[in-house]
Amino acid sequence: MIENNELEVAKEKKSLNFIEQIVDNDLKAGKNGGRLQTRFPPEPNGYLHIGHAKAVCMDFGIAQKFGGICNLRFDDTNPQKEDTEYVDAIKEDIHWLGFEWGNIYHASDYFQQLWDFAVRLIKEGKAYIDEQTSEQIAQQKGTPTQPGVASPFRNRPIEENLALFEKMNSGELPEGAMVLRAKIDMANPNMHFRDPVIYRIINKEHHRTGTKWKAYPMYDFAHGQSDYFEGVTHSICTLEFVPHRPLYDFFVDELKEGTDLQDNRPRQYEFNRLNLTYTVMSKRKLLALVQEKLVEGWDDPRMPTICGLRRRGYSPEAVRKFIDMIGYTKFDALNDYAMLEAAAREDLNARSLRVSAVLNPVKLIVTNYPEGQTEEMEAVNNPENAEDGMHRITFSRELWIEREDFMEEAPKKFFRMVPGKEVRLKNAYIVKCTGCKKGPDGTVEEIYCEYDPTSKSGLEGANRKVKGTLHWVSAAHCLKAEVRLYDRLFSVENPSADDRDFRELLNPDSLKTLYPCYVEKYVAEQESNRYLQFQRIGYFTYDKQSTSQHLVFNRTVGLKDSWAKQ
Ligand code: ATP
Ligand code: MG
Repeated sequence: MIENNELEVAKEKKSLNFIEQIVDNDLKAGKNGGRLQTRFPPEPNGYLHIGHAKAVCMDFGIAQKFGGICNLRFDDTNPQKEDTEYVDAIKEDIHWLGFEWGNIYHASDYFQQLWDFAVRLIKEGKAYIDEQTSEQIAQQKGTPTQPGVASPFRNRPIEENLALFEKMNSGELPEGAMVLRAKIDMANPNMHFRDPVIYRIINKEHHRTGTKWKAYPMYDFAHGQSDYFEGVTHSICTLEFVPHRPLYDFFVDELKEGTDLQDNRPRQYEFNRLNLTYTVMSKRKLLALVQEKLVEGWDDPRMPTICGLRRRGYSPEAVRKFIDMIGYTKFDALNDYAMLEAAAREDLNARSLRVSAVLNPVKLIVTNYPEGQTEEMEAVNNPENAEDGMHRITFSRELWIEREDFMEEAPKKFFRMVPGKEVRLKNAYIVKCTGCKKGPDGTVEEIYCEYDPTSKSGLEGANRKVKGTLHWVSAAHCLKAEVRLYDRLFSVENPSADDRDFRELLNPDSLKTLYPCYVEKYVAEQESNRYLQFQRIGYFTYDKQSTSQHLVFNRTVGLKDSWAKQ
């Protein structure tokens, strides 16, 4: 019995990622009074992308899994690039991914507390105003093996520091005139301890606090303290913050000095960032693509943003599945975009409605089918889920089929429409191709075939052996549509590691627009957020620009990985 239990525990342990194991151990040890509190801390200076989704799934997911809470904290300490547009978009995207926050906080809620803390440090002789330029300060930083040089202002009297700190916040000074630095250790092997800048002047209106503040705290002086004020227990972030962790702890220690909350303190843990091939994650670059109109907007379906993926037709489950597939480690890696697509295929295969659409149409005439006659054929909505039922698709004498499905002279293995050969029209009849009509330039204008009335799908004995099955729509019973085929945004695998400007690396063929295409009428009866499979082609969804007058569909992903071959 005991052995079995141990096995169970071992199995459970193994299925936890390394941060979940830390949380599990902390909870079992009763740390932080048995509390688990995380936060997701986006800076509202852009839209969330698939990399953020990895952090969202960690921060919210771990709280969910262990009965803790995750708060949403806007890390709004830099009014230069922040905006409420981003705040709203971030909330929408987190909800869409399937998560709910406990509370919403803002780092700007703590501006007064942070200011008071800074004043306390000044009074204790632990911070000073430096009037040097940022270049001068950078030059004095030294190198990891060489100690830095002390600023000439390092020993400024406390009263003077206090007065200048007030002045920094008065609006009288231009940006860059002076900064507040923590007085720590200019020789510390950790460069972040060499008197880090903790306050700077920004003369720009803040989207929440307006013009109240001119002196703004730096990330390292805001993040750990915000975690502490809120009661965060596990402050989870990405690996580039590993070298910041000692400073994080240093400020939290300073802040809680004299309090009796000895154990109750936030601790920082780091996991690897998500990097994806054929795209970029930098908000600066994504913003440039939007501002320079190189894409249609933040939600352009080629963008790696959550709203872009949503518009492209990804389901939240597909995104979460992908995050699960790649997992959390302590090593940075570049993940293959094809994995994201594979996750989408797997998920959409299970949930999408199968319909017929012809993207590159050519007319097929069933010459022995009576003119004016129609038949309603039964079509399975989703072979993966019998409960989804059936719908009807109208068959008639004149159909659209894909141009690529016909060849006059075909190689042996081309089991499609070939003169003299038989092929099945999906959910309908077996037809034998009898020829085609060509225009003066040789393009095929019409294809002819004859149907076998005894071969109707579903009829007993109707299923004699024919190798190919083609999709089709009835010319008089379908809808015209525009179809947008998307491909990778960049044509190189790792644009971030390329010396050329990222704009030069954009894939010129990342969007192909097809019109007119034809879709069966049943599509128009669906909700606009329905996940569709255009049979034999790929997964599609309505674009937000689609109207009943002009249908527009986006290809989410093809049925197969077309890049794998290349
Ligand atoms: P910035 O360059 O503006 O700092 P950022 O990508 O770090 O951009 P934040 O808004 O600060 O954006 O990120 C919020 C959270 O998302 C942070 O905890 C950050 O570590 C995490 N995050 C951002 N990018 C990724 C990524 N590619 N993979 C995993 N987590 C990420
Ligand atoms: Mg950041």
